[in-house]
Amino acid sequence: MKLICIGRNYTDHIKELENEKPTDPVVFIKADNAVLLKKQPFFIPDFSNDVHHEVEVLIKITKLGKHIDKKFAHRYYNEIGLGIDFTARDLQKQLKEKGLPWEKAKSFDGAAVIGNWLPKSDFEDLNAINFSLKKNNEVVQSANTNLMLWKIDELIEYVSKYFTLKIGDVIFTGTPAGVGKVVANDKLTGYIEDKELFSINIK
Ligand code: ZN
Repeated sequence: MKLICIGRNYTDHIKELENEKPTDPVVFIKADNAVLLKKQPFFIPDFSNDVHHEVEVLIKITKLGKHIDKKFAHRYYNEIGLGIDFTARDLQKQLKEKGLPWEKAKSFDGAAVIGNWLPKSDFEDLNAINFSLKKNNEVVQSANTNLMLWKIDELIEYVSKYFTLKIGDVIFTGTPAGVGKVVANDKLTGYIEDKELFSINIK
């Protein structure tokens, strides 16, 4: 199983990191070692002093496919979730500056939180989902999927040009503004609308 992650999919987050607005989605992969096991705390790795939370809406692929047209993309997933793309920002910055791949900053053990899933049928419009992240009970990230530069079905069309989508793969659809550092003893809770989908202790 692979995690296909989208970068810079919300304009406000692009501004925050002073990135250019892309003409194509930024895509990277996290390997399955990155999945944080259920009910486990997240341990800040010793190679970083600046691990950031990025809350993201997730899509779980339920059907094998490649070169999927966006018109048919909805047939390839039944559930919507919420997760965190943990990022060692200091290490990512160093790698970016050298033009090197980001995996060490993005795909380390535990760097992908996958919360509980909700049936797609719970939502009237997938392009109007409110989601948020609380750190120690205070909202730090809050957005709506209508702010995505590339919508869910467009992302499936785009990434499936390059990667065969397999059953169980998860797409991380990008983070909105408000990313920030986590420290030991923080508690992160993620919500779609008013439903809590994960709760993670930082160690
Ligand atoms: Zn991300």
